[in-house]
Amino acid sequence: MLVDTHAHIELQEFEKDREGVLERAKKAGIKAILTVGIDLDDSKKAVGLAERYSMVYAAVGVHPHDASGITPETYEELKTLARAEKVVAYGEIGLDFFRNRSPKDMQIKRFGEQLDLSVELGLPVIIHDRDAHKEIMDMIECYKGKLTGVVHCFSGDYEMACRCLDLGYYISVPGTVTYKNSVMLRDVVRKIPLERLLVETDAPFLAPEPKRGKRNESSFITYTAGKIAEIRGVPYEVVATRTTQNAGDLFGI
Ligand SMILES: [Zn+2]
Ligand SMILES: [Zn+2]
Repeated sequence: MLVDTHAHIELQEFEKDREGVLERAKKAGIKAILTVGIDLDDSKKAVGLAERYSMVYAAVGVHPHDASGITPETYEELKTLARAEKVVAYGEIGLDFFRNRSPKDMQIKRFGEQLDLSVELGLPVIIHDRDAHKEIMDMIECYKGKLTGVVHCFSGDYEMACRCLDLGYYISVPGTVTYKNSVMLRDVVRKIPLERLLVETDAPFLAPEPKRGKRNESSFITYTAGKIAEIRGVPYEVVATRTTQNAGDLFGI
């Protein structure tokens, strides 16, 4: 069994065949999918899917791309949404200095506000970090002892991974670990304790080899788990069992 701890099955890309995607995931041994909100409307959709399908869980929050669109009412609505039974995390939130779709200072402000909100709600956070390692670490270190969660699509080096582990965070590994040039990520996967590792698809994005370039979906996570098993030199079942247990420990799913 596996848990896809980060997907966006609420997105338009899955409108036509969402049930087929869930069916294929079940057949591939996926026990649960955590579908992650990127703005208020999208978070509402995520919660709706979690209510409808037993294998789907939801996270609510506003992605750094949309930081500029947040108003005080957004937070009020997210708080209400977060009380739904199958909301198990707050996110995805963070910083994206690669695309900078919202200004940097605005992203940092909104990230801080949403970290506070996660503390208030008592939910683990799902962190998005793109080209913002230093600022992400500075921010989450301020919440040491108050907040943990996962750094999704981890893109830092082993040293950063260790700092995240010290703060109580999990490291989530996407399909990019199968890409030829992902040397640093494979190094992290090889060295960190399996007890702190999660697997994710980030579907519909980042399909692993041999599906690279296609729309990603939860069933493809088996390639990622297979690669992790190969890198660590352990049987596939060990990776599946342990990462599933980790997802249970962090999200209660
Ligand atoms: Zn992300
Ligand atoms: Zn995502």
